Amino acid sequence: MTAERLQKLIAAAGIASRRSAERMIAEGRVTVDGEVVNVPGVRADPALHDIRVDGARLRKLGKPRRYVILNKPIGHLTTRSDPGRRSTVMDLLPHSFRSLVPVGRLDGNSSGLVLLTDDGELAQRVTHPRYRLPKTYYATVRGLPEEDVLERAQRGVRVDGEGLRLDQVEVIARFPHRAESKRRARLRVTLRGGRNREIRRVLSVLGHPVLELHRTRIGCLADTGLTPGGWRKLRGEEVDELRELIRRCAGEPAAPAPPAGSKPAAPAVQPPAAAFVVAIDGPAGSGKTSVARAVAERFGFAYFNTGASVRAVALAAMRQDLDLDEGPSLRTLAFRVILDPEGRVFLDGEDVSEAVRAPEVSAGASRVAVHPELREVLVERWRQFAAGGGVVEGRDIGTVVFPDAPVKVFLDARPEVRAQRRSSDEGDRDVGAVQSELRHRDHTDSGRAVAPLRRAQDAHHLDTSDLTLEETVARVAELVETARSRSRN
Ligand code: C5P
Repeated sequence: MTAERLQKLIAAAGIASRRSAERMIAEGRVTVDGEVVNVPGVRADPALHDIRVDGARLRKLGKPRRYVILNKPIGHLTTRSDPGRRSTVMDLLPHSFRSLVPVGRLDGNSSGLVLLTDDGELAQRVTHPRYRLPKTYYATVRGLPEEDVLERAQRGVRVDGEGLRLDQVEVIARFPHRAESKRRARLRVTLRGGRNREIRRVLSVLGHPVLELHRTRIGCLADTGLTPGGWRKLRGEEVDELRELIRRCAGEPAAPAPPAGSKPAAPAVQPPAAAFVVAIDGPAGSGKTSVARAVAERFGFAYFNTGASVRAVALAAMRQDLDLDEGPSLRTLAFRVILDPEGRVFLDGEDVSEAVRAPEVSAGASRVAVHPELREVLVERWRQFAAGGGVVEGRDIGTVVFPDAPVKVFLDARPEVRAQRRSSDEGDRDVGAVQSELRHRDHTDSGRAVAPLRRAQDAHHLDTSDLTLEETVARVAELVETARSRSRN
């Protein structure tokens, strides 16, 4: 290959348009054999020279690009190298990925999803505010922000002379406390721009400093299934989907169709790739909660307990003295219940995870669960809560809520074993009484007209009567591993 102008080489490598490449050169981001070249028009030969953009070597033309996502733990910097020799995201990757560049910044005190690639053009489109690609964060803040504070954050504030705003912010949980200094709230924040430490600066100036910040999504990419420090390569379809989403967010036309005679085109706008869901169903006392929690922990997955949300609806109805057999009036209660990805349940912002375990609430839950009007809202909400994937437990997860889940497990155990387990969970309550309550609940859950408790045809049946928790978890984990390696290939 002969020497070519740098901007032409950069454009040909797919990193940026020629004009953007000229700007990159002028900004001093391009080096040839270690020397910064900041004037346009310089020629170089990639076969003879080491040409780099933002430190990443210009790859040979036509060589496939690589894309990796990583769940950054707190304490690692999002940079290729740190002059102060602090840990960086590169330390978490194998040596062969050393030429990748982290896309955008996630500050050292924050955790979550980071994309790394040698595709400079895509990197630019992911980060530049012009493309408006949404990134989603969970933030724990000090205090309990009122509605007007959230509105101000979305309208915009000035911090150090800079106009900053959050595109969307909502409270997903409130943790009230007698002591003001111990009140906390958990927020979900969406940013489409992303100035330096924008979420922290906006919320701090509004009186709610951020205590923890985790990025959970970049467009259609989610951190689901990545333990802290974990990483994986993106599949081709995932990269295509991200490109398409960026185009849609920026209001650009869909990708041009390939020339006639080539492989049939996939639809221009692909439905989002299905999130990885582990569906765990089964009767009361079969061990669902302990198993689901342990599997989620093992793989770093989110965990949603749908039974807890049915219980919270029953609790709300009981607190308001509503008739548990009046479906239509219970429907709106479902909107007041939130499941968080750590298996907790909130009613009007109050953490009721403990309160819903009371035996009278259990009985109320299977009564309210028969109403189709209520189930319709609940199922929709469960799908939204678990849109990023995770372990989801309930009665109809594999049959109705996530019928395409790649892992489905139906846990069961002999009635006397289930009663014994429940009785110990509830402080050694009379086993006979517990067993008769379970029998009644099983009967209602299996006999109802809508979404009755039953095993999905493709679910793995696991009788846990003679298994320890560890044994059951190991079997489910094996199913998860198999499904994950299948979906990677
Ligand atoms: O799982 P848990 O025992 O907490 O569920 C309480 C009740 O909620 C169940 O007995 C069942 O009637 C109902 N439920 C349901 N669908 C789900 C989860 C629970 O109908 N997906």
